[in-house]
Amino acid sequence: MTKSRTGNSKFLKAYNEAGILDLIRMKQPVSRAELSKKTGLSPTAIGVIVLSLLEKGYIHETGTGESKGGRKPVMLELKPDSYYSVGLDIDVDSIQFVLTDITGRLVHEGSVPLAVNTADSAVKASESCINDIMDRFSINRERMLGIGISVPGMVDSISHRVVLAPNLGWEDEDPAGMLRERLQLPVYMENEAMSSAICENWIGACQKASNFVCVNIKSGIGAGIFTGGMPYRGTSGSAGEVGHIVVDENGPRCGCGNYGCLETMASTGRVVEKARKMVRQGVVSSLNDLENVDAMSLENIAAAARAGDGAAMNLLDETARYLGIALSNLVNTLNPSRIVLGKDFTVYGDLVMGTLRSVIDGKALKRPATNVELLISEKGDRASTLGAAIIPLKKLFGR
Ligand SMILES: [Zn+2]
Repeated sequence: MTKSRTGNSKFLKAYNEAGILDLIRMKQPVSRAELSKKTGLSPTAIGVIVLSLLEKGYIHETGTGESKGGRKPVMLELKPDSYYSVGLDIDVDSIQFVLTDITGRLVHEGSVPLAVNTADSAVKASESCINDIMDRFSINRERMLGIGISVPGMVDSISHRVVLAPNLGWEDEDPAGMLRERLQLPVYMENEAMSSAICENWIGACQKASNFVCVNIKSGIGAGIFTGGMPYRGTSGSAGEVGHIVVDENGPRCGCGNYGCLETMASTGRVVEKARKMVRQGVVSSLNDLENVDAMSLENIAAAARAGDGAAMNLLDETARYLGIALSNLVNTLNPSRIVLGKDFTVYGDLVMGTLRSVIDGKALKRPATNVELLISEKGDRASTLGAAIIPLKKLFGR
């Protein structure tokens, strides 16, 4: 009886602390009186919780606020540079990393190349990368909240194992478990598009949105879906595989076995491939002036379109039309308030937003189409890496 009561009160204390910490994060700067008013907890109870949070160094007092009669209240805020989190984004040939502090502020970022991409080599590279960061910023183990890893693939949300990551060539791998063992720190694994969605929800364009979708476009195309303010992963973790929505039945064969999946029509690799083919076929375009057609990049195509090249612009418009077909299906099925397009789309998105909008307005039902806002991610290509770093923060704040 006594034991279970102690257990209960410990749980309640931790639960209340996480809740109050989260409230401070959202309302800061905030006074103890305001916390008491917002939670319904007594000033004494708030005082005890705040003292514990101050002692642990999560928060600090930052001067006084406006008085509503009586003494000026002492204001509380999250303490920057107190605790840290690392986010890793594992891709085919590199690992991108970020270090953020407890407030989600970006402290440091970079990337390391991956010569060989196996789960084992990725874990070794990740480990040395994290050790370097902790050395460089003198962060001891107690101040490191954890590591989040994003991968382009299906992830089991309970076991954190990678079920399948076709672009990495991984099947049923446990890099999070391996890294946890080596570092003796909490390590979490998440799908790349879902990581981006977590980032937009925590510090980006979807902080106030409950139903939204983040679509990442690069070598593959995937979506991170939030419904009712919570991540939606589906029955077996494969929700959001929008890259395999068929947008042209007569299109090329996809890795999944179907024909004309969105990925085969609008992924970055496919757009560049189409541009190279266009140049080789002698279409009039400033892209013909490139020294090495084989080294042509999406940036080259966007720059040409921006400078008024009709052929390059047509190619990007065509890409946006295929995207529009797939997004219309999402709009009809999920009725989101926002769709945030990220990764390589940020290279040319501003050029094709009009086309994308008009396809969705033309193809999706009027009511959900009118209610959806289309946005280009302001986080560029680091949304998923930042999102990965936010996962350990979310645990701290009880989210
Ligand atoms: Zn497919």
